[in-house]
Amino acid sequence: MAKKTAKKSKPTKMVYYFGKTKTEGKNVGKDILGGKGLNLADMTSIGLPVPPGITITTQVCADYYKGGKKLPKGLMDEVHDGVATLEKELKKKFGDNKNPLLVSVRSGAAVSMPGMMNTILNLGLTDESVVALANATNNQRFAYDAYRRLIDMFGDVVMEIDREHFEHAFTAIKKKYNASQDNEVPAEGLVELCNEYKAIYKKYTGEDFPQDPMKQLELAIEAVFKSWNTTRAVRYREVEGIRGLLGTAVNVQSMAYGNMGQDCGTGVAFTRNPSTGENKFYGEFLIDAQGEDVVAGIRTPQPVAEMSKWNRTVYKQLLEIKDTLEAHYKDVQDIEFTIEKGELFMLQTRNGKRTGAAAVKIACDMVKEGLIDEQTALLRIPANDLTQLLLPSFTPESKKNAKVLTIGLPASPGAAVGALAFTAEEAVERSHAGEKVLLVRKETSPEDIDGMHSAVGILTSTGGMTSHAAVVARGWGRCCVAGAGEVEIDQKGRKIKVGGKTYKHSDILSIDGSTGQVMEGSVETSEPKLSGDFAKVMKWADEYRTLGVRTNADTPKDSQRARDFGAEGIGLCRTEHMFFEEDRITSMREMILAETEEDRRAALAKLLPFQREDFVGIFTAMKNLPVTVRLLDPPLHEFLPHDPKAQKEMAEMLGVSPAKVKSRVAALHEANPMLGHRGCRLSVTYPEILEMQVTAIVEAAIECKKNRVNAMPEIMIPLVGTAAELALLRAKAEETIEKTKQDQGYKGELDILIGTMIEIPRAALTANEVAEHAEFFSFGTNDLTQMTFGYSRDDVNTFLPDYTRLEILPTDPFQSLDTSGVGQLVEMGVTKGRKGRKGLKCGICGEHGGDPASINFCHTVGLDYVSCSPFRVPIARLAAAQAAIRNGK
Ligand code: ADP
Ligand code: MG
Ligand code: MG
Repeated sequence: MAKKTAKKSKPTKMVYYFGKTKTEGKNVGKDILGGKGLNLADMTSIGLPVPPGITITTQVCADYYKGGKKLPKGLMDEVHDGVATLEKELKKKFGDNKNPLLVSVRSGAAVSMPGMMNTILNLGLTDESVVALANATNNQRFAYDAYRRLIDMFGDVVMEIDREHFEHAFTAIKKKYNASQDNEVPAEGLVELCNEYKAIYKKYTGEDFPQDPMKQLELAIEAVFKSWNTTRAVRYREVEGIRGLLGTAVNVQSMAYGNMGQDCGTGVAFTRNPSTGENKFYGEFLIDAQGEDVVAGIRTPQPVAEMSKWNRTVYKQLLEIKDTLEAHYKDVQDIEFTIEKGELFMLQTRNGKRTGAAAVKIACDMVKEGLIDEQTALLRIPANDLTQLLLPSFTPESKKNAKVLTIGLPASPGAAVGALAFTAEEAVERSHAGEKVLLVRKETSPEDIDGMHSAVGILTSTGGMTSHAAVVARGWGRCCVAGAGEVEIDQKGRKIKVGGKTYKHSDILSIDGSTGQVMEGSVETSEPKLSGDFAKVMKWADEYRTLGVRTNADTPKDSQRARDFGAEGIGLCRTEHMFFEEDRITSMREMILAETEEDRRAALAKLLPFQREDFVGIFTAMKNLPVTVRLLDPPLHEFLPHDPKAQKEMAEMLGVSPAKVKSRVAALHEANPMLGHRGCRLSVTYPEILEMQVTAIVEAAIECKKNRVNAMPEIMIPLVGTAAELALLRAKAEETIEKTKQDQGYKGELDILIGTMIEIPRAALTANEVAEHAEFFSFGTNDLTQMTFGYSRDDVNTFLPDYTRLEILPTDPFQSLDTSGVGQLVEMGVTKGRKGRKGLKCGICGEHGGDPASINFCHTVGLDYVSCSPFRVPIARLAAAQAAIRNGK
């Protein structure tokens, strides 16, 4: 018999079981099982009490969409097999009329998207099995409570019935039975409610609530897949920059019942405080409740610390599990649990989201506790989250005098001052218009994401430490005060009442996310310091990193601040800002209007002392550290007024005719100013500008030396595209340095490096030639990106949002370096540059110098340093260490 030639490839497994019988998913990745699925399998295999179930892979979700929104063939067979194993293990039967098995159907992607996708609980209940459940548990109230929840969730998630209809019916029943809380409605009331829910279901769908449990299951699985692509889920992934996932997994898990009475309950907790990092079990629980009741704020939950009073054994067990989980994951966990008749079940664990401050403290504590080493600790802290520690806080003095209106929960630390916005849309609009706003809501929901993101702070009047507002705000490091119950919000009237006073939308309040205080007016804030654990992390970072970190600064104040944050010099000192101040702009304009070299020189001579003074200040603040000064860069028209009125004023000031000003402005007009007469091209045309600037630098350096301040200036010539340009200007600069030294009668050492910015693709392509005239390169990746892509940096927002939305570009290339394109020019610039000049010093001074992903790239291509804004210096130090650790030192 002929052998089959083509071996049929084994079909990919679509369903993984977790339970006592077997745990199949242990070694399968998060990308396939989703975070929730993988961790359920994990927890099962390390012996924690987890209700057994199955996980349908994310690949199935991808196939569902690929196949035109159809469940792939064979899926339901595998699900049937899984359910059969579950039935055997639990000795219950799905849809049974004696002892029915009920399941939850839960979403869960590889990256957690809290509250974004759907979950259905108590699935498998029907008119018949609800009676069976009531009999089997001898608890009719519970059985019908489970059933009403199912009809509600299924109606909402699968059939998209507006939840309000169910809520109205529930409110009416509560009234009828005189119940103030959900769990006070007696059994007969819940029986009645289920009938009403079924009627609502029929009214809005035209169908009866499905009485076949398998049909329920199939529809629910499909609904979870659909929830992957709802607008809010898509928007969430956009905001969070989550890309490249297959889809969501679906977990079908046997139910644990927290709603069977006073010996039952459900809760959520963090193994450590996610706001401060303190090593203390932190969370909330609710007796006789199920699922989302805790987070939804149905009743006020109790802190977990109170649990020992209610059930000591369970509390102790929970504390043990907390330690087991931390030892296993070696990180803080965010958990969900349910207690059914005194028996504890774990329903979820994931790495806990935390504030930047908590991340730092937890990393340091865990090193001390021996859980992780320094390198792991450094990798644990998202470098960008350090921004939160660098945020201002309210000054103690100003707080003493502040009028505290009320105190809510300190949900997410920070200090925020802003006017009041009452809807997410309003917050977005007003923030776009440049206003600082606090988003004030009763409670936020996933629909408010955009508004929360734009607001400087969030204030809610209900909800606890684990409410939506609190969790999301902490994730972003946005300041949030939650559950400030005394704040009465009148959303329509755009005002709030608190402390007996009314504040309208234009009034300013200050909120302190570390204490929960809500204060009147604008309370003064102060800048942070590097101390304690933060300083320790920075010290570790400095031990591991090989990249230098400099700053972009052009004032003594910024220089000092950057130095306090650990900057090792200035990588970019822009000189144009120095020409804008009141007394200088006039001389600058005089220079631009000058028609002869002589007049130009006269105007420049007036600017020279100002420049020199500025440099003395900066060199002094940065003593013993290099300061790269960039010569004048922008096109001259940027210094001239463009409206007729201002032109007239300028003419008067300079004693020339308005027509002359107008004509000079017109003459300077360029169609493409960014590609125009700027950078080194200015010095080619007007060498006297270069002369003045270099003279000021040298005179300042000499003055510093005389004051025993070791100034270390470096002269950087911008926008060079050819070696010849640089050769010419370098010679000019050298000549000027010599001349100035002589004029000053200075005989000492003065080692001033001369280098260039690499920001024109041609300079990178010919870097070996350019390097012959440069002692250093600094990659100006803003312009380099602009010119490599051909995107005008100033106008790019007209189309860039579409490019990222459609994933034509993975991210905004002006924020994170395009490593595969622009990065190649950087790499070539370094390699070729060092061929032209051995040991050429190379750095980066574009915006990218403060972006962790770009810093990683800079490390791999062998740059000597990155330079970024003062507030990003600590971030860059950490990111540089992470790059060194990740790539092997
Ligand atoms: P989310 O991803 O939005 O947190 P979950 O899938 O975790 O949604 O479920 C929502 C709520 O239902 C959670 O509180 C969870 O603990 C609870 N829940 C889910 N599955 C079960 C189950 N099998 N038994 C009891 N409670 C469950
Ligand atoms: Mg959950
Ligand atoms: Mg530039």
